[in-house]
Amino acid sequence: MGIDCKHLWNYISEYLDWTLLNETRETVQKHLDHCEICSAILDSTRNMIILVADDRIFELPVGFSERLHARIDLELT
Ligand SMILES: [Zn+2]
Repeated sequence: MGIDCKHLWNYISEYLDWTLLNETRETVQKHLDHCEICSAILDSTRNMIILVADDRIFELPVGFSERLHARIDLELT
């Protein structure tokens, strides 16, 4: 399985930025292939970044990742 969900969330923004090492990227990709929760999170994070980029604001809203993680915790329990 490689890494668990909580570890993967640390890599999502780098995954989307293509700044992960190939080895890490592969691990993340494998996890995403079998984990619906993380795939959904990746999609919503990507959409969020596109929205934010369209407004020419390059930082995620304050508290975004905390709210995201709280939501994920709910889905996992
Ligand atoms: Zn996962």
